Amino acid sequence: MAIAHITEDEKALIEAIRELALERVAPRAAEIDHTGEFPWDLKELLAQQDILAMPFPTEYGGIGASELAVVMAIEELSRHCATTSLILAVQQLGAMPILLAGNEQQKRKYIPRLASGEWTAAFGLTEAGSGSDAAAMQTRAVRKGDTYILNGSKRFITNGGLAQVNSIFAITDPQVGTRGISAFIVERDFPGFAVGRIEEKMGIKGSQTAELIFTDCEVPTENLLGREGEGFKIALSTLDQTRIGIGAQALGIAQGALDLAVAYAKQRVQFDKPIAENQGIQFMLADMATKVEASRLLVYNAAEMVDRGEEHFGRYSAMAKMYASDRAMEVTNDAIQILGGYGYMKEYPAERMMRDAKITQIYEGTNQIQRLVIARDLLK
Ligand SMILES: Cc1cc2nc3c(=O)[nH]c(=O)nc-3n(C[C@H](O)[C@H](O)[C@H](O)COP(=O)(O)OP(=O)(O)OC[C@H]3O[C@@H](n4cnc5c(N)ncnc54)[C@H](O)[C@@H]3O)c2cc1C
Repeated sequence: MAIAHITEDEKALIEAIRELALERVAPRAAEIDHTGEFPWDLKELLAQQDILAMPFPTEYGGIGASELAVVMAIEELSRHCATTSLILAVQQLGAMPILLAGNEQQKRKYIPRLASGEWTAAFGLTEAGSGSDAAAMQTRAVRKGDTYILNGSKRFITNGGLAQVNSIFAITDPQVGTRGISAFIVERDFPGFAVGRIEEKMGIKGSQTAELIFTDCEVPTENLLGREGEGFKIALSTLDQTRIGIGAQALGIAQGALDLAVAYAKQRVQFDKPIAENQGIQFMLADMATKVEASRLLVYNAAEMVDRGEEHFGRYSAMAKMYASDRAMEVTNDAIQILGGYGYMKEYPAERMMRDAKITQIYEGTNQIQRLVIARDLLK
């Protein structure tokens, strides 16, 4: 196992999450995938067990866990259900702009209710015409007295319509490019906020992915995060940190697929012996395990850089997310191969794991964009 510098209390918490995931989350995973319904029961469980409080400082009602402990928690949940791990990951993603750029009043108003799990959060950057090129967004925010009026829409927003607290990015000054983008805390109940289409997806089916529509949406000026024009920087700083959690999600999915493949290979008998006795299968398992462990090292390393307060961890969080998600696709694919025809069937979780792994190569910046981030940092 990779070296992990967490406190004794955090170790105990991660151990408890491992057991909870096995006993309470794993039995629900296939049903969540089948129905595509958001698992409110598991969201409540994560709230009750203070797992949703992990990413938040104690002064705002959180338990102030290290980033490493947060990613380890995501990993443990992902081993059994990627949808459930996303509840924790997106609580951090949606709240991170407030943690990074919010003033005291904003933090006091929003963070305690996110830490307790009473409210959930969402992060709205992507639009129909602007994905990788986030700066091409069209959503506008125009100041009128003590409110900003937002018009436009956001696409593919995780927790969209479920989250009470939405970190939304919009253009306040179209003349100055990325320096004209600002960030806002938009509550679901603000006038002019509506939910558009809910997407049907390949994987993470219990996670709601929705369009958010702003029609003369009224956002009080006190909900501007930082200053006007700082939104793009806030979005990028948020993703630099939270994409480590996506690496952890990929890592957990891959570990779950490896566990399954090992167990299956030991009990499946063909030609009068367990298939695990064939060197061809053993080599596949060895490669899978090595990929999982290498992913773990990259993910934990990036998280520890955050915990040490290192400023330039962006390259390493991009590496962790890119590497772990690419490996998760390979490992889940190999797990299906080891399970043979049974791997292709919904009776076993291997095919769900592969469908869930795919999204980790796409969201919070595609892996092509991660390579751009890494290369730019290398060449600057
Ligand atoms: C299930 C799901 C949940 C999501 N949740 C959220 C969320 O909560 N909040 C949010 O804001 N967004 C969310 N997204 C959006 C996600 O971050 C974007 O889908 C992603 O950033 C890619 O944008 P795009 O889909 O528009 O693809 P595009 O940007 O159109 O990219 C298409 C292809 O071109 C490649 N490409 C683009 N530019 C380059 C380049 N310069 N060099 C090389 N290749 C390039 C991409 O890598 C990709 O392979 C979610 C998406 C999904 C599918």
